[in-house]
Amino acid sequence: MKQLKFKNGDTMDAIGLGTWKSEKGKVTEAVKIALNNGYKHIDCAATYGNEAEVGEAFSEVFKNGKVKREDIWVTSKLWNNAHKKEDVIPALKQTLKDLELDYLDLYLIHWPVAFKPDVGFPEKADDFLSLEEAPIIETWNEMLKAKEQGLVKHIGVSNFSIEKLKDLMAETDHTPEMNQVELHPYLQQNKLLEFCSKNGINVTAYSPLGSGDRPDEMKAADEPSLLENPVINKIAKKHGASPGQILIKWSEQRGTGVIPKSTNEGRIKENLMSTGFQLEEDDLKEIADLDYHFRYVTGKFFEMEGNSYENIYND
Ligand code: NDP
Repeated sequence: MKQLKFKNGDTMDAIGLGTWKSEKGKVTEAVKIALNNGYKHIDCAATYGNEAEVGEAFSEVFKNGKVKREDIWVTSKLWNNAHKKEDVIPALKQTLKDLELDYLDLYLIHWPVAFKPDVGFPEKADDFLSLEEAPIIETWNEMLKAKEQGLVKHIGVSNFSIEKLKDLMAETDHTPEMNQVELHPYLQQNKLLEFCSKNGINVTAYSPLGSGDRPDEMKAADEPSLLENPVINKIAKKHGASPGQILIKWSEQRGTGVIPKSTNEGRIKENLMSTGFQLEEDDLKEIADLDYHFRYVTGKFFEMEGNSYENIYND
């Protein structure tokens, strides 16, 4: 499997396990299955509401000695209601407590958007903090402090467009080490990838299987789900792989991280086994033609009248 390299020489396995929407009653087992079957990279977030259950899996697996903490890579993310400078490190410490870890390998600002501290999810414009009330540079400087304190090894961002990255980079000498964004054949984001590559920013692809979904807008556009897409299925047949494996391989072959979510033992194992073949030039050309800029995670909740969030997306 490919590794993503960081400036200090650390490496992250390209394929990791996602945990969004993994139910509390299933996620402990899913993470244990993953770690006991070769996954070395787990993607978490405070807002997924299941970090304590993921933490149970870590402590059980470490206890039986088969997997060591230093051999795995754990990512988590700062939720949008903890951007104020006094809230960043306490939020990180809560995540560490829940995950039963002393440090994270990677901590990300989940979105370039801030909510008031008591707001889990916004319902009205007043639930947001403006860029003046919670300047992203102040949040970032706390992330840097967390790194200096050894609470995290690497820091980065998520859901940052080129504009948002430029805004942040104009204010700091410490470029984010990662940008985790939605990436799959229906949303290829080539310009963002090029920008990140030029600036030494690693990229991780989220919702690589299209969140296993076929939303109404996709039905209206008469587009099949990613997993049912005929081109993906044709390429899968050619390589003797599953459609999911083609989508994961496509991300890995582009040089990004990729974090498919599953709580199903068979699919957890299948997804890790996406590396035993190579997509060929004609496969890649056909997949390139599937891009129709479709977002599963639309961030529509940020488009409330009266809030000041612009340039969330590039395309
Ligand atoms: P994915 O694209 O990973 O799709 C997950 C869905 O596909 C689930 O329904 C899963 O069901 C199913 N599935 C998994 N493997 C296969 C397979 N081989 N064949 C067929 N179906 C399969 O969706 P997510 O949106 O969850 O994205 C992945 C991860 O990315 C998240 O879990 C999270 O960690 C991260 N993420 C980050 C975001 C951010 O803002 N930074 C936003 C969204 C996601 P089952 O469990 O039953 O197998």
